[in-house]
Amino acid sequence: MTPMLKQYGEWKDKYPDCLLLFRMGDFFELFFDDAVTASEVLDIALTARDQDKAIPMAGVPHHALDSYMGRLIAAGYRVAVCDQITEPDGKTLVDRSVVRVVTPGTYVPQDAEGDGKIAAVALNGEDASIALLTAGTGLLEAGTFPVDEAVSLIFSFRPGELLIPRGLEDELSRRAPDLTAQAAGQSAIVARERGEFSPQFASAWLCKKWGLASLRAMGVEDADPASGAAAAAIRYLEETQFGGADHVHGIRPLMPEGMLILDRTTQLNLELVEGDGASLYSVLNRCKTPMGRRRLSYWITHPIADLDEIGRRQDCIEAMAGDGTLLRNIAESLSGCRDMERALGRLSMKVGNPRDLGAVRDTLNAMPKLLRDIDGSKSGILESIFREVPDVSGLGRLLSDMLEDDLPRALGTGNVIRDGCDTTLDEARDAIRNAEENVRAFEQEERERTGIRVRVGINKVFGYYIEVGRSNSDRVPDDYHRRQTVAGGERFVNERLKEIERRVFHAEHEIGEREEVLYKSLLAAALKESRPCQAASAAIAELDVLRSLAEIARDGSYVRPVMDESRAFLVKGARHPVVEKSLGTLPFTPNDIELDPDATDDKGCIAILTGPNMAGKSTYLRTAALVALLAHMGSFVPAESALIGLMDRIFTRIGARDELSRGRSTFMVEMVETANILRHVSRRSLVILDEIGRGTSTYDGMSIAWAVVEFLDLHVEGRTKALFATHYHELTNMSLPQIVNLSMAVDESRDGIHFLHRVVRGPASRSYGVEVARLAGVPNLVVRRSQELLAEFEKSSPSSDDGLGDLSRKYVQKEIFFDVEREGVIERLAQSDPNQMTPMEALGLVSSLREKSRRILGYK
Ligand code: ADP
Ligand code: MG
Repeated sequence: MTPMLKQYGEWKDKYPDCLLLFRMGDFFELFFDDAVTASEVLDIALTARDQDKAIPMAGVPHHALDSYMGRLIAAGYRVAVCDQITEPDGKTLVDRSVVRVVTPGTYVPQDAEGDGKIAAVALNGEDASIALLTAGTGLLEAGTFPVDEAVSLIFSFRPGELLIPRGLEDELSRRAPDLTAQAAGQSAIVARERGEFSPQFASAWLCKKWGLASLRAMGVEDADPASGAAAAAIRYLEETQFGGADHVHGIRPLMPEGMLILDRTTQLNLELVEGDGASLYSVLNRCKTPMGRRRLSYWITHPIADLDEIGRRQDCIEAMAGDGTLLRNIAESLSGCRDMERALGRLSMKVGNPRDLGAVRDTLNAMPKLLRDIDGSKSGILESIFREVPDVSGLGRLLSDMLEDDLPRALGTGNVIRDGCDTTLDEARDAIRNAEENVRAFEQEERERTGIRVRVGINKVFGYYIEVGRSNSDRVPDDYHRRQTVAGGERFVNERLKEIERRVFHAEHEIGEREEVLYKSLLAAALKESRPCQAASAAIAELDVLRSLAEIARDGSYVRPVMDESRAFLVKGARHPVVEKSLGTLPFTPNDIELDPDATDDKGCIAILTGPNMAGKSTYLRTAALVALLAHMGSFVPAESALIGLMDRIFTRIGARDELSRGRSTFMVEMVETANILRHVSRRSLVILDEIGRGTSTYDGMSIAWAVVEFLDLHVEGRTKALFATHYHELTNMSLPQIVNLSMAVDESRDGIHFLHRVVRGPASRSYGVEVARLAGVPNLVVRRSQELLAEFEKSSPSSDDGLGDLSRKYVQKEIFFDVEREGVIERLAQSDPNQMTPMEALGLVSSLREKSRRILGYK
């Protein structure tokens, strides 16, 4: 064991759960198992430290640390950065120390997306207290909620790590199985000391940290267990970042009363922010800044139920949507803004670099024009966005005056501070600039003095030298000292050259030191203004989102919904924002939504929607959910007009079959989720059920579906709003007063059927399974045979329409429905001709068929 490896071992022992990145000169090295892991994850060479290869080693260049680290984090590892903390002198062992621990919840990369998100949760009685901390921006939200609500909130947050009190693992997975499932999927569970979650202890600690007498000023009660979760989250951040959580200025209460809750399944079903294909976010996003994009995705997953705030957002959108020039001007100004929010977060956490300071400068400098743009707008509403933002132009000017335009990623390479800001720095730079001239002059003098054509050059290892050709070696003057022999001759130095060299090295050193001092003073100035700057970031983000929504409203013909305290959900000509866009130039058929539990006419509040497959049922249901969601974001909605009463929750459930692709086909899951809806639905909720009960036998499924509809109609006090798509035609026979039957209009002609995608009153007449099969390209032979069979079935069973009575006829008919994807695979195989294919084509065919079949079978 060399002393260096001993040092390594000591640090590794302190961070056994991390990959230890050990600084050695220009590299961060990993050893032993860490080296093997890193070489696999990062695809870098695995070498060895010693002769007999007993110590595997792998390394990454220090300047590329950020990007390699990102890949290790993405692969689920924790990383401890062990840096050199004394200057290497070539003789003694350099001191090293772990300066940072980077984890999935705390990693805030410079160039990639990712803000570092930590969630902390503690159970207390029936409730769960949670804290959601965004490391990159310093936003900390906390609150106490019923367990399932807490799970939804954590799910919208998408933390990289979930902190829980040690020893609570089992209880948590029993009480909140969803949470542990999600943690297994996308975030790591980290057990922390129980004491950190204790509210008394935590609020005292937080008050001290923030210099407050009580947390109440921030809207959190001191004894609120949420303060425990909040403290645990901050402590974790401080511990991993070694101090540096100063940008977390306070707690913002998470308030579900002011929010529209989307539970976890609904967030998945609606494909809000991410999904296989286009998401709502991708359609709405015309933001110009990373801050805006972050805010937009937050608004989408955190809709609000607050009429004042919704109205204010709508006013802002209206002010911009009607004014194309304003939209363009603001867009242009926003384009000059960079990610100031995250840059400040990185700088506070001491992981920032000159470029982050540059991002602050650019953003502050873009603000005056932005403010002029909105100043010119007709109503004063846009200015209100910036009302709370203090003047930070002084900092902007300071940074512009001092910082170079293009900034390096690291200090120490020069080019951070402009010329003309500091005399010491200028002189040192002049010295370097003059050095080249001095060297040439020296060379000329030496040639004259010695009469030899000497050449002066510089070498990385030996510094400056005078080179004398072999033929002149006997004419070298006495004051030359030999340094090195090279192919063409010999290299020397003398006192004068050494003096020049000293001056250059001294100047370089001085530039480095001086830049560091000046940079640090700028950094301190920026951090001192970090709160006002964060306020400015927040205002810019909000303006960016509102501008984006205004542009969408204008280009996509969205309208301002009327929102009130009623329970009505009345929309004329509603369109699905994402499907509409994916259709391109094909027209999307708008449909009306009419649900009102308090209506006195025949509107009804629970609609049962029937119709053939592919007719547009699911699209209609999702349209309703998305229009409601958009309205609660304060956005305009894709419709002709809308009247929407505030909702408290949106639930959506999609039957088992549609979810096969997600690998969750069990009937059990569906029923657990349905049970959850029934427990939490209120008179202000919107419930969307798409073909539930499908994952089981016909009778079971239908009975359950029936009972669920009945429950919503009879057992929710004052009823609720629900849309229910089903292929159980029997449900259309339910005769309860608030239930209306809807169906998808179908145009039947001699050569088949044509879907109009239009929702009409009344139940569907037939299920058209066979025609759909034909439309989907099922071979004619099969279609003809199934028509024969269908006729047989219809003949052999007496047709009666008394609800549950005659199931066999309809369900046999259902079984005939072809799985078109499955057919497609066989069809494609049948049509292929191996004799006409190149091996490559054959290979291509096999892999494409394999992929399709695996998808159909629901393999991962
Ligand atoms: P279902 O649930 O009845 O099987 P979907 O809602 O999945 O049908 O719709 C099938 C397809 O029909 C959609 O992918 C979409 O391309 C098209 N579609 C649905 N609704 C509309 C509409 N209102 N206007 C235009 N096309 C639509
Ligand atoms: Mg469907």
